[in-house]
Amino acid sequence: MNAKRKINRKCCVCGKAIYSSVNPKGRYSNGHYFGKFKIPIEGTGKYEKIGKTRPGKIKCNVVRWNGKERSVEYWECNSCFEEAGHLNWLEAKIGKLYGKKCPDFEPECIVCQAWKFYEEVLKGDEE
Ligand SMILES: [Zn+2]
Ligand SMILES: [Zn+2]
Repeated sequence: MNAKRKINRKCCVCGKAIYSSVNPKGRYSNGHYFGKFKIPIEGTGKYEKIGKTRPGKIKCNVVRWNGKERSVEYWECNSCFEEAGHLNWLEAKIGKLYGKKCPDFEPECIVCQAWKFYEEVLKGDEE
């Protein structure tokens, strides 16, 4: 089967619709796809402190979101992708949703996970 799958997505930066298609090898004809990340749905819960990092380390509250989450595919349209400042948007968004990056990475911590996603997007951009 060589059929292309058509997809409609929105640019996460400017909100413009991205009409793209995916071939069987997973290549996109339009737009730039960075991956999925989960964001908490406001009003459905709160951050629970589930612990702190071990003694001797810089203090970091380990938190977990106890409400609902939605999975977001992070897409950018071609024109936003070409604008140099586009990553600042994501940084600002994650900062607003999750707060400042923790000094230490804890795999349990939703804040750390969000920032890790951001760093992966950043890495992909440098290739
Ligand atoms: Zn855009
Ligand atoms: Zn953390």
